Amino acid sequence: MADRYLSFTATAPGRFLTRRLGLPQPAALRRWSPEQPCLPGDLLHLTAGETAVRDLAPVLARTGLPPADPAARPADAGGNAAVVLDATGVHDVDSLAEVHAALHPVVRSVAASGRIVVLGSPLEAGADHHRAAAQQALEGFARSLGKEIGRGRTVNLLRLTDAAAAESTLRFLLSPRSAYVSGQVITVTAEASGAPADWSLPLAGRTALVTGGARGIGEAVARTLARDGARVVVLDVPQAEDDARRVAGRLGGSALALDITAADAGERIAAELPDGIDVLIHNAGITRDRRLVNMSAERWSSVLDVNLASVLRTTDALLAKGTLRRGGRIVATASIAGLAGNAGQTNYGASKAGIAGLVRSLAPRALAEHGVTVNAVAPGFIETKMTAAVPLFIREAGRRMNSLAQGGLPVDVAETTAWLAHPASGAVNGQVVRVCGQSLLGA
Ligand code: NAD
Repeated sequence: MADRYLSFTATAPGRFLTRRLGLPQPAALRRWSPEQPCLPGDLLHLTAGETAVRDLAPVLARTGLPPADPAARPADAGGNAAVVLDATGVHDVDSLAEVHAALHPVVRSVAASGRIVVLGSPLEAGADHHRAAAQQALEGFARSLGKEIGRGRTVNLLRLTDAAAAESTLRFLLSPRSAYVSGQVITVTAEASGAPADWSLPLAGRTALVTGGARGIGEAVARTLARDGARVVVLDVPQAEDDARRVAGRLGGSALALDITAADAGERIAAELPDGIDVLIHNAGITRDRRLVNMSAERWSSVLDVNLASVLRTTDALLAKGTLRRGGRIVATASIAGLAGNAGQTNYGASKAGIAGLVRSLAPRALAEHGVTVNAVAPGFIETKMTAAVPLFIREAGRRMNSLAQGGLPVDVAETTAWLAHPASGAVNGQVVRVCGQSLLGA
């Protein structure tokens, strides 16, 4: 269902009225298109204190955004597509003042739908507590700025030690592909994974399996992975086989009719794809909402089975059989309902929180033993058939209660999934990345 409020606020009278009434001011977000693959404008690279990462500048230079001159009209130029503040060297409260000093004069220079990316150092248990306090402070800073900056602009914090290993993540965060990702803290390791031969086709030669790919978010994921060069296998329940075939046919891929809750689903996938896969997207999911007092055991177990148990079973089977090749990527689908909780969704919230637990626990082991990374996306309010069926008032609340004051699109989840699925994202492991426009839920 179209977001009429968003269209209304894009008109002059709409802008005037909503401003006068103090209502949310969503801005039309700039998303990736073949014609406009980059954000328009410059990239301003600032540093607070001494940097702790080497060779950041050449990596930023490869993002496609021309460097801005820090000395040129910083306050009101309005021409910066992005500002990257390197705060990796911030080590105490005094040096935090440099974060303020660096960003305070340039916030206005960031164009609509622009980006602020703050770089921090990874938090280490047992490290100097002054440094830990200052580095943790960056999270509260970035999230607060994200909530106040408006005009479709996003603010994220990236913790890193090695600029080259973070290249795919920097490219994502500094591009229109991350339009609905804000208020996130992402940690990347120094794990080298090498650059693709062609950054516009990072999945060339790779095979990706997308569960629940016949419609909604899964269909967008299948489309985006195919755009990035992957051969896509669209898995869905037998009842949705026609839709799965239609999606796969358009993408030059294939369909696999299979209920993912089948006890032997992993074995059947392995048998159908004897050459193996490189990317496994656990997207299939269901809701069966009721408050706990009214929830039958069947409603409970069906949601836990589709959303969590089958993810565990198929992951275990495909890793054990070696169907998921070395260098492979697993991306599971959590939800902000699993992070924040949601009335009427004890079953769904439990299943999606379980995904976060699975990801964090399996990630280091899967990488060490199989060379495979494991991450999750946690969508917020996404405009799909599912959310179109939500009663009007709750739907409006879901749309507006985030820093971007609008719902996300399936493609926003798909772009985030694709970044995590790319071979160059080997340094991103064990992360749960929300695609929620910085939803107030569980923020
Ligand atoms: P959807 O209902 O439109 O699509 C889900 C797909 O999964 C369907 O094609 C369905 O047939 C398939 N599926 C369901 N059970 C299956 C099974 N047992 N085996 C194989 N396939 C099965 O849902 P969506 O809105 O596109 O959501 C996709 C994922 O994103 C789900 O995991 C959902 O929980 C999650 N999510 C969605 C939102 C949102 O706002 N739409 C928010 C947070 C999380």
